[in-house]
Amino acid sequence: MGFFSEVGRQVEQFKQTASAVAADNADYWCRTCESRFQTDHDECPECGAATVEARPDAE
Ligand SMILES: [Zn+2]
Repeated sequence: MGFFSEVGRQVEQFKQTASAVAADNADYWCRTCESRFQTDHDECPECGAATVEARPDAE
């Protein structure tokens, strides 16, 4: 009892971890709203500002 719900909880934690890692690996960000992106944009999809640039050596 509880086995399947336990597995489901672990899968959910894994998915959250995976998306967090993806955000950390984003190479571009918006200086205005600080959103992060995997690809470059002329204008920020979040706030529309033309302040998307490559992140300096992100850790
Ligand atoms: Zn923005």
